[in-house]
Amino acid sequence: MNRSSWAKLCLVAFVLFAVVSVPLGRSADKIKIAKEKQLVLDWLSQPQILEKFGKIADAIWSYAELGLQEFKSSELLAATLEQAGFKVERGLAGMPTCFVASYGSGKPVIGLLGEFDALPMLSQKGRVPKQDPLVEGAPGHGCGHNTMCTAAAAAAIAVKEAMDKYGLKGTIKVFGSPAEEIVASRPHMIRAGLFNDIDAVIDNHSASGFGTGYGRNGNALFSVIFTFKGKTAHGASAWAGRSALDAVEIMDVATNFLREHLDPAYRLHYVVIEGGEAPNVVPDRASVWYYVRNSDEKIEEMYERVLNCAKAGALASGTELLPPRFIAAVHQQHSNKAAAELFQKNIELIGMPHWTEEEQAFAKALQKELKAKEDGLPSKVDQLRGPGSVFVGGGSSDVGDVTLVAPTATIRFPGQVPGAIGHHWSTVAANYGSTAWKGLNAGAKAIAASAIDLLTKPDELKKLRTEFEEYIKNNPYKPFLPADAKPPLDINEALMNKYRPLLEKHQIDLK
Ligand SMILES: [Zn+2]
Repeated sequence: MNRSSWAKLCLVAFVLFAVVSVPLGRSADKIKIAKEKQLVLDWLSQPQILEKFGKIADAIWSYAELGLQEFKSSELLAATLEQAGFKVERGLAGMPTCFVASYGSGKPVIGLLGEFDALPMLSQKGRVPKQDPLVEGAPGHGCGHNTMCTAAAAAAIAVKEAMDKYGLKGTIKVFGSPAEEIVASRPHMIRAGLFNDIDAVIDNHSASGFGTGYGRNGNALFSVIFTFKGKTAHGASAWAGRSALDAVEIMDVATNFLREHLDPAYRLHYVVIEGGEAPNVVPDRASVWYYVRNSDEKIEEMYERVLNCAKAGALASGTELLPPRFIAAVHQQHSNKAAAELFQKNIELIGMPHWTEEEQAFAKALQKELKAKEDGLPSKVDQLRGPGSVFVGGGSSDVGDVTLVAPTATIRFPGQVPGAIGHHWSTVAANYGSTAWKGLNAGAKAIAASAIDLLTKPDELKKLRTEFEEYIKNNPYKPFLPADAKPPLDINEALMNKYRPLLEKHQIDLK
């Protein structure tokens, strides 16, 4: 048979397959959905439920609270879970905004992670497709965390409904996790024993697509503040002083030379957070905040080299380097394949939300403003993602540490606009209103359906556990966070005190 005959035959076979299999496939899926899973999907499909959690996400978006300052956001979620019958423990692991909400009893224990913090400098009006701050300079939800613990809470309450109706055994827990943007909470939560009895964890993140993945990804991260102590003097007789700002600048020059000699998957970035207040006063104190990122194997060595640059800055400027302050230190993410495969089936079952013309028009207007491809919002879910064949490094999350204490994978749910930039005003604009509501609702369905699978199918849970036990034999959990590090409760206090009163004028009141 020649090539074109083969092609024709294949086309005929494909058309026949498509015609026959689509209706059969759908009815087969319907039959296969367990009654417990059907209940959570039906419960979450109610318009008043979509609206209730959509409004919670919009309210948290309007609070725009930075890490460890999420007092209103955390309380709104904790109270919502408490009102639904969950037992809520607040102020855990040394963090006032950390909570765990539990329902049910005994094994298995399924954990849902939930984040709610914002990012500095990103304030933006919702659903306005050009940069237009709500409050100039204020924080904004540039990573979609307003929708994330909200999705976990909606999912957990749906699961509780199924547990009540069908007498399911086990426990569902929502981990209200502060300060993910500074990757600061999870190592402390693990240290406090909050994950000790957890059999599996369903993590989630806002995205433009709907999908999940497995394997090792992202970078480990050490977040450290280096502070130098010098000697002050009049700026016009500066020979009497020793400038702490000089030490910071020399350190930064040294680390920028270091880049050439680092493994290419590294990341290294910093901001000067304290550098004097007037040129005519020699600064006797200056601080620089570094993010040092690399693989789990290479990060400690890289940190030592950055620390040497700090010591060089102190030596050259005649100042003193104070003990470095660890804000956070986290592992790479090691996501569980069996978990991701299970979550993927539920993502495919639920499918992408239907977007209206108005929602597509907003997405395209934003894409146009960003000079991105103007193809609107996606209509199909993503395929299951494996690890890349070459490790190129990337972002970091304190979820990394959780993946080493329990089998974990992340469900990425839609709502954001493809082409919108993470940690940027464009994501703040897109993560508000109807697309965010529908996206988090779809995410909640995938989380709840997966939790039902893990509660009702011991064989599925066993697959996750077996893979996990095998993996940690070679990758045992040893926290990078120094034993004496405390949650950095003060880190965002001044910024939030400055902007909270200004943001309050624009806050959404749920009553
Ligand atoms: Zn994020």
